[in-house]
Amino acid sequence: MRSEYDVIVIGGGPAGLAAAIKAKELGLNVLLIENREFLGGIPLQCVHPGFGIHYFKEDLTGTEFIHRIIERFRALDVEYYTNAHVLEVVPYSYRHKILRIVTEEGLFEVAARTVVYAAGARERHMFEIGITGHRVAGIYTAGEAQTMMDIYGVMPGKEIVIVGSGDVGLIMARRFTLEGAKVKAVIELMPYPGGLTRNVVQCLEDFGIPLYLSHAVTRVEGKKRVERVIVTKVDEKLRPIPGTEESIECDTVVLAAGLVPYLKVIEKAGVEIDPATRGPVVNSYLETSVPGIFVAGNALVINDLVDYVVEQGEEAAMGAYEFVKNGGLPALKWRKLVKGRNIRLAVPHYLADTKDVTIYARVGEPEENVRLRFPEIGKEIRLPFVRPSEMIRVKLKKEEIARAKDRITMEVVRDE
Ligand SMILES: Cc1cc2nc3c(=O)[nH]c(=O)nc-3n(C[C@H](O)[C@H](O)[C@H](O)COP(=O)(O)OP(=O)(O)OC[C@H]3O[C@@H](n4cnc5c(N)ncnc54)[C@H](O)[C@@H]3O)c2cc1C
Repeated sequence: MRSEYDVIVIGGGPAGLAAAIKAKELGLNVLLIENREFLGGIPLQCVHPGFGIHYFKEDLTGTEFIHRIIERFRALDVEYYTNAHVLEVVPYSYRHKILRIVTEEGLFEVAARTVVYAAGARERHMFEIGITGHRVAGIYTAGEAQTMMDIYGVMPGKEIVIVGSGDVGLIMARRFTLEGAKVKAVIELMPYPGGLTRNVVQCLEDFGIPLYLSHAVTRVEGKKRVERVIVTKVDEKLRPIPGTEESIECDTVVLAAGLVPYLKVIEKAGVEIDPATRGPVVNSYLETSVPGIFVAGNALVINDLVDYVVEQGEEAAMGAYEFVKNGGLPALKWRKLVKGRNIRLAVPHYLADTKDVTIYARVGEPEENVRLRFPEIGKEIRLPFVRPSEMIRVKLKKEEIARAKDRITMEVVRDE
């Protein structure tokens, strides 16, 4: 390990690997630190297809996808450590950050001119989503269950109830069924499924797995292990309706109730957080409010597709390159991206007219036949539908950004 790097990448999942590859290709000296025993992040434990459709123009499994990226990374001879954990990033000066890293050999302090933070997301746990009851064996997050099954070859249970119908919950329902478990139900709080329609059809309907919409698991019961869950209907304000309780016998509960950007390592460095994404506020170089700390992937915003995650990793590395080359990003004129009608979240938060920018956004409510509008720059895109579960990805050209004075509103309007 050197005492200083141009860029230290935190996290060896798809975002971190893509950032390290791009930074190395741009001629920076790079160190990548990964917590786990292996490089690869989440796709390593995903044996289902649906990865790389945009990036490689092929439908790959998670493992196939990530092995292609790891091959590129290894070919460039990037320095990296696995089984190593970044404890803290201290913004020592404008141009230098100090990282405290624990490896198998000990505790190190290393300096970096820039950091690309790509540590992924954490899963929401039982009490965070309002489930009461016994803290017994047999309750797993989807990530824990997937790691047990697809990395260690151990089935978490035989009769399973899944909480949450996002893509993770849907894909896990199919995985459990294919491995011989009985998925008794998938429970969803909202009146519509949280995941892609193709996953509702291919993962639930094709296997006859019941989906309870507008329902919540309100209680887990059992002595030593889960024996049943109590499922309750919810009203339009998502409050449980007394008297609608139903009991479902099961031995396992799998929580697939959403991911939250994992920010523990950079929170203390003082990065500003957006309450909508629960990730950092960033500019179009994916730089956080702390100069020289860039962020990408699920640590920035929860993405549906790994293709977008890789794109963000490359973008953050290009930002780090600009910073290293010029001793900081130039003082630019930033336009604030303002969330208009039916836009629940959108990144990046500040845009400059120095380059084209890709915006990633989600709506609050599903709608059909709409237009995505940016009134200040006169841009409109017609969309057949928008859904909270499907990220909107749209490119703004630098000439378009230059048309705005100080803000660019993004809104969804109904087609007359
Ligand atoms: C069940 C499931 C199914 C999915 N299916 C699809 C699909 O079909 N198609 C698709 O395109 N996408 C899919 N995805 C989404 C895709 O896997 C993610 O978007 C992607 O993995 C996010 O990449 P990331 O690099 O941001 O985070 P991760 O993959 O989570 O990688 C982050 C890495 O950072 C490491 N790390 C964390 N903290 C530290 C630290 N302090 N120090 C060092 N290292 C650290 C972690 O160990 C981890 O390896 C799925 C996700 C899940 C969970």
